Amino acid sequence: MARIDLNNIRHAYMPNPVSDDDFALKRVHHTFDDGGAYALLGPSGCGKTTLLNIISGLLRPTEGDILFDGHKVTDLSTEDRNIAQVFQFPVVYDTMTVYQNLAFPLRNRGVASNEIERRVRETLEMIDLADRADQKAKGLTADDKQKIALGRGLVRSDVSAILFDEPLTVIDPHMKWVLRSQLKELHRRFAFTMVYVTHDQTEALTFADQVVVMNEGEIVQIGTPEELFERPNHTFVGYFIGSPGMNVLPVRIDGQGAHIGSHAISLAGPIAADRAARMELGVRPEYVRIGNKGIPAQITRVEDTGRRKIVHATIEGQPIAAIVAEDTAIPAEPHISFDPAGINIYANSWRVDPAAARQG
Ligand code: ADP
Ligand code: MG
Repeated sequence: MARIDLNNIRHAYMPNPVSDDDFALKRVHHTFDDGGAYALLGPSGCGKTTLLNIISGLLRPTEGDILFDGHKVTDLSTEDRNIAQVFQFPVVYDTMTVYQNLAFPLRNRGVASNEIERRVRETLEMIDLADRADQKAKGLTADDKQKIALGRGLVRSDVSAILFDEPLTVIDPHMKWVLRSQLKELHRRFAFTMVYVTHDQTEALTFADQVVVMNEGEIVQIGTPEELFERPNHTFVGYFIGSPGMNVLPVRIDGQGAHIGSHAISLAGPIAADRAARMELGVRPEYVRIGNKGIPAQITRVEDTGRRKIVHATIEGQPIAAIVAEDTAIPAEPHISFDPAGINIYANSWRVDPAAARQG
């Protein structure tokens, strides 16, 4: 397995790119540690597949270098990089049996036949296809074909890295859950470097140690699921992760503290005010309270989701969502307040670090 360094990668699909907007990847500079489980999370079109194909060697970046364990591989083919890649839609050999499909990459690499037998049998168990080993791939469902494609990646325990590009898109919901936990277990056993692309936050958050959040061709934040939830670096991360996402409200910050309209807001620590910046208060619905104190609110809609309610309201003309326990009574004159620990302050969409304010 390998550590993967991406050094100042830029990629444009068009010839002669000029402005930043011409680049599908604007600038990516990042290290995937050896043995790490990473999710690459971001909306459709943000550049996830482009980045994955650059790591595997299917695509050569317009600028920048890729290093495996400190060695430059930018000019090497996928084969020579020794990467396993599983794509969104299954790629299998229809005329081969399930067994042969899995054995193929090992034969290609000259693995001894008893070792092939052992690894293929073991992998077939994991992907739940042991009983169909001798069936031709052609007649199988898309679901089973994708399991074969996953198996073909997993059977090669000697690869530098395994890359997954939304591999569970075509898999039915129950099997998705099973395969996801098996992938996690395999990662624990073999500690391969794993980069898993998804646009599904649940998949990313349950799966990875580190989530790399991308937007518009750039990495916006890298963090543990908890960091992304509690301290989104950018309002985009706040919106994109969580359901519903973080509330963002214009806020005025001066020597007296923080204010929304004429209402003072308690913060957990001091924040440096920057008069030129567009200051915003970010607070997740989980940290919004409804009661008799705070800012007067107009309730617009209540969604009952079973054990909790999502309350949509407006304060000072701004929409805001709160997640409250199912049995929370909403007073006749509702007010909204925030848990100070759940507040983040943003200037021009980037989070202001309270620690920096204390030092400054
Ligand atoms: P994601 O996988 O996050 O959905 P992609 O990496 O596929 O995003 O695409 C990033 C951007 O590059 C998008 O704007 C997409 O339209 C563009 N793009 C992707 N592949 C090609 C291609 N082969 N030719 C031209 N543009 C492409
Ligand atoms: Mg993609």
